[in-house]
Amino acid sequence: MCGIVGYIGDKQAYPILIKGLQRLEYRGYDSAGIALLNKQTVLYKQKGKVSDLEAHISGRTTDGTIGIGHTRWATHGEPNNVNAHPHSSFNNKFIVIHNGIIENYSMLKTKLIKRGYKFSSETDTEVLANLIEFIYLTGKVTAELAVRLALSKVVGAYGLVVMCKDEPDKLIAARKGSPLVIGVGQGEYFIASDATPIVEYTKSVIYLNDDDVAVIKKDELKLKTIDNEDLTPKIQELDLDIGEIDKMGFDHFMLKEIYEQPKAISDTFRGRVRKDHSDIHLGGLHEVWDDLEKARRIIIIACGTSWHAGLVGEYLFEEFARVPVEVEYSSEFRYRKPIIFSDDVVIAISQSGETADTLAAIRIAKEAGAKVLGICNVVGASIPRETDAGVYTHAGPEIGVASTKAFTAQVTVLTMMALKLANKKNKISDDKFSSLINELTLIPEKIEIALKANKEIERIAALYKDSTNALYLGRGFLFPVALEGALKLKEISYIHAEGYPAAEMKHGPIALIDEQMPIIIAATKDSSYEKIVSNIQEVKARKGIVIAVVTEGDETIKGMADHVIEVPEAPEHLAPLLTVIPLQLLSYHVAVMRGCNVDQPRNLAKSVTVE
Ligand code: GLU
Repeated sequence: MCGIVGYIGDKQAYPILIKGLQRLEYRGYDSAGIALLNKQTVLYKQKGKVSDLEAHISGRTTDGTIGIGHTRWATHGEPNNVNAHPHSSFNNKFIVIHNGIIENYSMLKTKLIKRGYKFSSETDTEVLANLIEFIYLTGKVTAELAVRLALSKVVGAYGLVVMCKDEPDKLIAARKGSPLVIGVGQGEYFIASDATPIVEYTKSVIYLNDDDVAVIKKDELKLKTIDNEDLTPKIQELDLDIGEIDKMGFDHFMLKEIYEQPKAISDTFRGRVRKDHSDIHLGGLHEVWDDLEKARRIIIIACGTSWHAGLVGEYLFEEFARVPVEVEYSSEFRYRKPIIFSDDVVIAISQSGETADTLAAIRIAKEAGAKVLGICNVVGASIPRETDAGVYTHAGPEIGVASTKAFTAQVTVLTMMALKLANKKNKISDDKFSSLINELTLIPEKIEIALKANKEIERIAALYKDSTNALYLGRGFLFPVALEGALKLKEISYIHAEGYPAAEMKHGPIALIDEQMPIIIAATKDSSYEKIVSNIQEVKARKGIVIAVVTEGDETIKGMADHVIEVPEAPEHLAPLLTVIPLQLLSYHVAVMRGCNVDQPRNLAKSVTVE
């Protein structure tokens, strides 16, 4: 959450910063600001989107070759012009942008107030700016030392960039818990929360680690720890194309990303499944297969949509590899007293690889001696670096806040892992193993077919866009899909929706059903098909409106449901990859028709780097 950009070099910083903020806007969009260091330093902040900031700055001076920018997702203090970043220190010596939370800000603030400091905002970030300045002025130390000393007093998470007016030739960047990437150019450096603002200028990047502090001049970068130990920066090649972060003619990133799923899935299995479908090779797990084979239990930790992918994973691992699986919300797992055995294997799933609760849960599992694996999309993010091993999804950058292609790519990885583990444990016949691999490789073209229902789904969306509630049902492998469908509708259209296992309907939600209530049922042909047909009848008996996602050519459900959306036939284990597509499209169209900001839903942000 929250996007940070910085530039130092010979170019004008403003256009680079504003463009960078637009790229990072998916991470937070309640207010934004830019500061440029010049003979006369300027600082602009504005409540609202980056476009509001741009309008606010239009016609004013934007001169300067050093600058920082921030797009905020508020944690401390409501979104307004004052609380927006960057924050100046009390005596105007420092300007700071920050992503994260300073947990002990209140205690530090009280101390600073006693020393005569006054605060204008309600943010934790301003406390940090003032603490740095206080140390700088009273200790008569360099800006760099002031930053390091201040950070040693701070509890919490930060990715931050600091400018000091007395030392106008440098930016100081530091991270703990919140991501920061530095782009290395010719006589210039770029700083950002992720690589998207950097990719068009350079492909050479340095990912900061926790406790790293970088002192960046236009032609020099010094990296050290917060305790002043020198570090050698590791420059890596960025694997990202500029085309991947454009809308490419689609109205919204979310729609583009829904349509990218065939490619995201094939990119995720390509090179990993043997062409003759006889085997699966997951290079990142090479050293941990032994642990997986011996695992007493697999614990999957995740949040949001990734948690739903984890539930699909539970069904897959248990059915194929016959290993018990628990799927936990990272935030619950980390704060209860979980029992973790050293022969448990923990799998952490996160699109961004930065999810704060999941990172914390990983640390707990590691301390308990379990092997921890990651399934992430963003290369080089914190989770892949902190886990013992893992598998990247190759979904490409996901910009829409509502996750779509990341989900199907995660399920693809989990499918490959479960099948391979089953194969290693001899729990699956070679024929079945190979036939399921073959089926997995057919999924992208089946999704292409499923996407053809888009117009029909749009028509259905128009009928129910004004609903106030919706119920999503599914059984077996399609239960997590029901949860995911409901989440998509809630998060982008603000319609209250619940996902339930279809049989659970009788234990409560059935009371909600009336003539107004759309009930979206994932009901493709699988081992519980007859049961779900009965559930549909139960809904119809109570005059609910049934929108069913069915297998191509299913005449039975067609005869009962108000609307059917067809998807191609597939084994039930792979059905989530197909049935989720119409549900994503349905929520997309409903949200667009309700005038909601699909890519930037209210109160949300992508990459949840605060707990
Ligand atoms: N805690 C800071 C604030 O509320 C930073 C939030 C963010 O990461 O955007 O301003």
